[in-house]
Amino acid sequence: MGNITLTMIKPTAIKKNYAGNIIEKITDAGFRIQAIKMMRLSKAEAEKFYEVHKERPFYGELTDFMSSVPIIAAVLEKKNAVEDYRKLIGATNPENAEEGTIRKLYATNIQENAVHGSDSDENAEIEVSFFFSKKERFNADGSLI
Ligand code: ATP
Ligand code: MG
Repeated sequence: MGNITLTMIKPTAIKKNYAGNIIEKITDAGFRIQAIKMMRLSKAEAEKFYEVHKERPFYGELTDFMSSVPIIAAVLEKKNAVEDYRKLIGATNPENAEEGTIRKLYATNIQENAVHGSDSDENAEIEVSFFFSKKERFNADGSLI
């Protein structure tokens, strides 16, 4: 069981100024932020990040959306991080998300669903490396990971 996951706060949630509320939900749930940054993905970077979905009908629209305005990416640390964070964010479609989950509270629709969360320990490692170098991740005492 791994102890990190990668999240992104997606464009519509950034536009609606929900970033602070979402980060508070994350830290209240016991996750520690190892690394965080705001950046705008290029279309090519969004395509690379969501490459697993390239055959899906919404791939073009999803990668246009993800590169439309900046996102916030963060590495979150907690025991059982991947599974616990998926529980905290709720179902992909906010209409099916449980009360109190981040997507129920802050998503707009199935595509603009407020946040991303890694779906396995293996993908968490890949996604963390996509956004962050070793010099950008910190332990609680300030030392590098
Ligand atoms: P994420 O990977 O962003 O955490 P997820 O694992 O809950 O979300 P995936 O099936 O991996 O869901 O889909 C990736 C993203 O693609 C979704 O979060 C959403 O933004 C978008 N998406 C998924 N299904 C649809 C759909 N039917 N129509 C439009 N966009 C969709
Ligand atoms: Mg996914």
